Amino acid sequence: MQLANKMHRLGTETAFEVLQRAESLRSQGRDIINLGIGQPDFKSPPHVVEAAVQALRDGHHGYTPAPGIPALREAVAADILKYRGAQVDPGHVLIVPGGKVTMFFAILMFGEPGAEILYPNPGFPIYESVINFTGAQAVPIPLVEEFDFSFNAQSVLDLLTANTRLVILNSPANPTGGAVPKSEIDTLVKGLEQFPNAVVMSDEIYSRICYADEGHVSLLNYPEIRDRLILLDGWSKTYAMTGWRMGYSVWPDTLIEHATRLAINCHSCVNASAQYAAIAALEGPQDSVDNMVETFETRREIIVDGLNSIPRISCRNPRGAFYVFPNVTQLPGQARDIQNSWLEDLGVATVAGTSFGSYGEGYVRFSYAASTEEILEALERIGNSLA
Ligand code: PLP
Repeated sequence: MQLANKMHRLGTETAFEVLQRAESLRSQGRDIINLGIGQPDFKSPPHVVEAAVQALRDGHHGYTPAPGIPALREAVAADILKYRGAQVDPGHVLIVPGGKVTMFFAILMFGEPGAEILYPNPGFPIYESVINFTGAQAVPIPLVEEFDFSFNAQSVLDLLTANTRLVILNSPANPTGGAVPKSEIDTLVKGLEQFPNAVVMSDEIYSRICYADEGHVSLLNYPEIRDRLILLDGWSKTYAMTGWRMGYSVWPDTLIEHATRLAINCHSCVNASAQYAAIAALEGPQDSVDNMVETFETRREIIVDGLNSIPRISCRNPRGAFYVFPNVTQLPGQARDIQNSWLEDLGVATVAGTSFGSYGEGYVRFSYAASTEEILEALERIGNSLA
């Protein structure tokens, strides 16, 4: 057997490994608090579940059109108009099985040896993994604590060359909770005029989970780059639907056919009943989303204050998502050692910052998609161990 070389360049998402280890410790009877997981600790809204059941009862058992059922593509366009104030042609919307699929398709479309792709570091680990898989050069955009894990737009522009094919942005961000301020996006978009061949993929999967005063800043609101913008969003985080595998993307006119062709080659179409559920999510009551975000906001305060009260740990107040990314450089060992000792010795699952790229050294990601009691207990265990 001779595997293709590129298989050796494919990375992974270590959060899943932490999850597995946490589960295995739990099955041995250990009391484990899981703050490693990147999914809401809420159930999908009941009316969404009902819509899926109804769709199955109504006989929606067959293939759907590859880009998604028309009513869902229209619902996505209406939702984008409602929450982002941007007009989108439903014909440019592609329904995909999870947010990840959009990044996979976008990176496959532009990545090859000789191409350069910019990506946030620390960032969602699949960006760097798939860039490496395609043989393109992965060029990190460092996200640093001094800028609240955002970036200075000019320093990003300085990384672009004539070979830059794709620029990946993610705001609000995993793993830091950082959000890029509008002023930096303005400067970045202006500077992109000099690089007309660089396509932008904006991962806005946490768009509704945003605490920044200026609200979520969507790249869709920049007409100058709409002809080279790929938007990534989906239902996983907003509607607590990670296991449904429902995502969507918006592609420019020149790319939607290519993206649809990838979809046909890859998965044919997305699960039909889940697509009906997704319509119900977008068009139905939004109170479950509002309640979830309010709960996250309260927990954010608790975890940020709690971490800052532990000696030798300091934590910025994140502007979005449900993660904090405290600085642990004053503690002995590297981020991975700290992650392992907190899990094995204290029963607290977190994820080392280096799981999200080399610029994550010195940080550990906590997800606060867990109950307040669990968060307080985890803080106490860590605090006591460092006292
Ligand atoms: N993008 C970011 C920044 C994420 O954090 C995640 C999931 O954690 C995804 C995309 C993937 O979402 P999905 O589970 O819908 O594939």
